Amino acid sequence: MPELPEVETIARGLAKRVVGDTVESVWLGQKKEPLKSPAKDIAVTLEHSRIAAVRRMGKHIVFDLEKKDVARTLVAAKGRDRHGLDHSHFLQRRREVGHPTVGVDRSATTANKAQWIVHLGMTGRLQVCAPEAEIEKHTHAILKLASGRELRFVDPRRFGRLSVAAAADFDAAGIEPLETDVDRFVELFRGRKTPIKSALLNQKLLRGVGNIYADESLFRAGIRPRRRAATIKREQFVKLHSAVKEVLREAIALGGSSISDYVDADGEEGFFQLQHRVYGREGEPCLVCKTPIKRVVIAGRSSHYCPKCQK
Ligand SMILES: [Zn+2]
Repeated sequence: MPELPEVETIARGLAKRVVGDTVESVWLGQKKEPLKSPAKDIAVTLEHSRIAAVRRMGKHIVFDLEKKDVARTLVAAKGRDRHGLDHSHFLQRRREVGHPTVGVDRSATTANKAQWIVHLGMTGRLQVCAPEAEIEKHTHAILKLASGRELRFVDPRRFGRLSVAAAADFDAAGIEPLETDVDRFVELFRGRKTPIKSALLNQKLLRGVGNIYADESLFRAGIRPRRRAATIKREQFVKLHSAVKEVLREAIALGGSSISDYVDADGEEGFFQLQHRVYGREGEPCLVCKTPIKRVVIAGRSSHYCPKCQK
């Protein structure tokens, strides 16, 4: 499953390729699971939108969209489009909730903004490819771009999710680990009776820190995964705060060197892994003190730590 650094890398790779391009049309597959918003909403929001930015929020990839021409879009969206999608219901709903329609003041530029939000789940991938590239099995969405290329969403296991936010107001829960200062970080965990490992994985607190990076951060900070968050002293949190950032930044830097691999038409998932110091090294000697690395299960997840280096 892609973690924060991989999602960051993918978002950067996509930004390089598709920012400034415009979505001409959208095809969506029949499978319901990948669509978190109704198919009509996704199609109407994406079609004729310019991709202004692509960025990561937590483990989501967010495409910031701008409608080039509201009037034309609404006219084009009336009735059935070339994919047989009936947009009239959606248009009706837009009127009811006060979205601009033809003839209404179009100077309100914020109304032209929207977002396409992609969560890759376990096996989701976004491909930028030529239209003649073979359409893989498990392709759930194809966006035709004005540049002539296609942006495709492929997901064999269908845990990935596609959704749209009408007014550019998508907000992933939790705070960004790379953007938070130490005081806010300490405040997140204050008084929590859960093991620090579970608290780190809680997406309502920190966005996007997964199992591997939580274990690696705790090792670098010298904190056992089972320690109750409430018993951890401020200076240890200061260490943990820098360890989390360090681990994520290193992984992003590594990923950044092979960006093109992920989003190519035939790209394998060749994420360049951070060399793990504890994760997946049960029984192997600690790289610092040679004590065998232990594995425990906390809240159903494997946790790896050095019983000597981590207190
Ligand atoms: Zn050790």
